[in-house]
Amino acid sequence: MKLKTLLAAAVVLLACSSLNADSLPMKSVNKASEVIDAAVAAHGGAEAIGNLKSLVQKSEFVNIATGQSRKPGPPYDRAQSSNVNAIDLENEVFFTHNAGTGGGFDFDNGTLINGEDSWQLDYRADTAAPLLEPDFDTQSGPFIRVTPALLMKQLQARRGQSNWLGVAEIDGRKHDVITLVMEVGPALGLYIDQETHMLTRMERVLPPFGQVEYHFNDYTTIDGIAFNRKFELFVNGDENLVIDIQRTELNVPLNQYTSVPANLRKVAAIAPDPMSTNEVKEGVFLIGGNGTYAMFVEMQDYVVAVGGTQTVEASIGEMRKQIANKPIRYGVLTHHHNDHVPGAAAYAAEGATIVTFRENEAVVRAAAGDDNATLEFVEDRMTISDGSRTVELYNIGPTPHAENMLIAFLPQEGVIFEADHFPQPPNGVIPPAVPATVAFAKALDELDLDYQVIIGAHSPRVGSAADLKSALGQKSTAP
Ligand SMILES: [Zn+2]
Repeated sequence: MKLKTLLAAAVVLLACSSLNADSLPMKSVNKASEVIDAAVAAHGGAEAIGNLKSLVQKSEFVNIATGQSRKPGPPYDRAQSSNVNAIDLENEVFFTHNAGTGGGFDFDNGTLINGEDSWQLDYRADTAAPLLEPDFDTQSGPFIRVTPALLMKQLQARRGQSNWLGVAEIDGRKHDVITLVMEVGPALGLYIDQETHMLTRMERVLPPFGQVEYHFNDYTTIDGIAFNRKFELFVNGDENLVIDIQRTELNVPLNQYTSVPANLRKVAAIAPDPMSTNEVKEGVFLIGGNGTYAMFVEMQDYVVAVGGTQTVEASIGEMRKQIANKPIRYGVLTHHHNDHVPGAAAYAAEGATIVTFRENEAVVRAAAGDDNATLEFVEDRMTISDGSRTVELYNIGPTPHAENMLIAFLPQEGVIFEADHFPQPPNGVIPPAVPATVAFAKALDELDLDYQVIIGAHSPRVGSAADLKSALGQKSTAP
């Protein structure tokens, strides 16, 4: 909700209660203000917090890949990354750099928000792409939300919009719960210990993901301000992220972070990616937008759809403009990851047979939201043919990304559709291969498929065998 809307709501509330000092909203705001004063004092004091102008933190992250592990169920895979965040609050400059591995990917990238001079940095591809609509509040929000001192600054500045919600007990200790509404995003519920006045927990509800819970642990004092050394994030009760904060620097210049390294090639900005339909070969359509796509293959009497991302429902709508009256007989899901099964619901609604692996049945049925959805299980391969056109499905798993992974191959057209193994940017430079790409290329070799075109679940780009070769031929340095 925007600040203005909230202010308007507050004005209405105040008007209704005739500005009575004992009215519920007034009591709530006043009580929140008392809690904020005590919390700011406990975290270093109004002066020290007020004088905090810039902050640099270096951390080690452990990501727990809930819904994104190699297997469908727990225990989930853990991936390590290192992170640098640097913020200059007065000049609205923010820099973040993340390097690590996970899910068969190596990544080493950054974002610099500095007014007109804002960039998306890829240290693996050695490229820097300008950010056309840099947004300091949105980009710096995740760092602010995991940093108590920065949350205290937010509370100081926005106390008029904070409410006291009540008292809750955590680990046998009483906490006051107050709200904080930042410039962007849903309201946060902050738990302030009634004795120590320290921030120990925070919560927010983020549809459609559910409840996100922040735990701030192991405080220490640096230059008079309290900083936590440990942080944990839970999503719907499942551990999702553990941060080990290694270094904290206050009020230092950010010069070393605010220029694009000389060795990075400046490339074109990443353009907006609206819904589009691309007829890759006659009767073979790649349809999607905003980074997710599905392939539709027109057979004599029906359609075969491949891909399970959230675009499927909208993409089916677009497909109907090309193929008006043939039913979707098969809806093929590439793998069990939580961003590759939402399409199951759209396929179930179409009355299609959902093609997946037996191991993924529970995940797929949950995503389909329909216990009576028709599922067909693939083991190693499956062929769908109407006598004139053929769609071949192959399990290329296990790969570093998933235990079981389907790709589709159209032998007559030489087209391959894949998910999450050959990341192709919408335009420009193909980055160096990640371990998942190496496994994908090896599988294509072993299957001895004769292909010319590679399209994917996350790119509108129509790639080629040469593009895959170029990815494999580049240096692949682990961060
Ligand atoms: Zn995946």
